[in-house]
Amino acid sequence: MDIRIKFLGGAGSVTGSKFLLMIDDFNLLIDCGLFQGLKELRLRNWDDLPIDPDSIDTVLLTHAHIDHSGYLPLLFKNGFGGKIHCTEPTRELAEILLTDSAKLQEEEAEFANRKGYSKHNPAKPLYKVEDALDVMHSFKSHPFEKTFRIHDQIEVRFFHAGHILGAASIEVKIYTSQGTKKLVFSGDLGPMHSPLHVAPSNPPDADILFMESTYGARNHKDQNLEAELRQLIMESDKLGGCILIPAFSLGRTQLVLYYLWKIFQNMRSRPIYVDSPMAISVTRLYKQFTSYHRLESDSEFGHHIFDAPFVHYVTEQSKSKVLNTIKDRAIIISASGMATGGRILHHLYHRLPNKQDTILFTGFLPEGTRGKDIANEEPKVKIFGEDVDVRARVHVLDGLSAHADQDELMEWSGHIKKAPKMTFLIHGEKEQSYILKQRIEGKGWNVTIPDYLETFTLYDHV
Ligand SMILES: [Zn+2]
Repeated sequence: MDIRIKFLGGAGSVTGSKFLLMIDDFNLLIDCGLFQGLKELRLRNWDDLPIDPDSIDTVLLTHAHIDHSGYLPLLFKNGFGGKIHCTEPTRELAEILLTDSAKLQEEEAEFANRKGYSKHNPAKPLYKVEDALDVMHSFKSHPFEKTFRIHDQIEVRFFHAGHILGAASIEVKIYTSQGTKKLVFSGDLGPMHSPLHVAPSNPPDADILFMESTYGARNHKDQNLEAELRQLIMESDKLGGCILIPAFSLGRTQLVLYYLWKIFQNMRSRPIYVDSPMAISVTRLYKQFTSYHRLESDSEFGHHIFDAPFVHYVTEQSKSKVLNTIKDRAIIISASGMATGGRILHHLYHRLPNKQDTILFTGFLPEGTRGKDIANEEPKVKIFGEDVDVRARVHVLDGLSAHADQDELMEWSGHIKKAPKMTFLIHGEKEQSYILKQRIEGKGWNVTIPDYLETFTLYDHV
């Protein structure tokens, strides 16, 4: 038996995760993500895969984020006929995220055709909502920690990665003529001490390790997020305005709700409006899958945090617009987190010119996004084609990251006692992976940073 790996994405970058494991003629794809961000990366989504989707036998999915799952509808449309194995919350989240991804692409294509700016004539989405719904029939969910078989000689187990709801690391055991070969894919790893998600489980010993390196070169600062947020609320009260939070629907919104819930145990509460259909659907899943995160088991909560009397869910567009009339003492959470689209735009349009209001960003803002321009306090930003004055107070709350930092990645991999034969650092910008590589090599491990489309032989004739 020969075992090879080909990196179809998530190599030298943080998006497009797709790792093709070729075990003789059995083709196993781990993750199937879309490339996002820079245009040169996004264009790769339109290239044919170097393997016919029809000849991929099975997909294993670590978690639902689009950079890990977003290519699945296209894979299915182009002939993939196997099963997609994942955890149960991942299946439910994937349905929400994939249909949303399809809807956005259809809207963008329609917009490009209307404005006539697409080079393709007519502009087309990569896939449509119906393709996203079709691929859902191929999903098969499994509990954490329960081994299942995908081939006579291959067993798989999901264990907690602590990154988002349902996120898993994956152990793949291959039975060969020369014993069992153990491969471990970390998936995206969460921080060790999130109040929301469980900590990543200790990895088992691995012969070949594939580890993410998003924050390979960085350590998160020690921060008291609760105190920082409380301070902001008090300052906002002095200004006499509202707080507007552009938040990511999956994980970040729920984490913000948790901190606000905690703060309002000892401070006069105020209405919190969650104004994003996707954030509301995702929050519903956090309520459904209580055993997969930490909130319910926290005894200091008398009732479920997401049902607190001051939390209001706004589903209708018309009610969303009414929020513009609220002058003070309210918190509005709306997507998207980088203010690139969604309902947050009309809130920003109305509140950015108000000195009394506060705009609170909750995460990393890439250059070129509207969110970054606002955070940089540019005097004006364009919304709905109009120049809007930036007079509101702007604050960026760091420290809500869903990724393990460098020390935590070292701690996680430190549970593997015997050095793997090979360790591949994936899902990281080159500089991040390189710094982590040096640290891991310090332990005497053999570490490789693969390139996009590079292939490696892991085992010959076993
Ligand atoms: Zn992720």
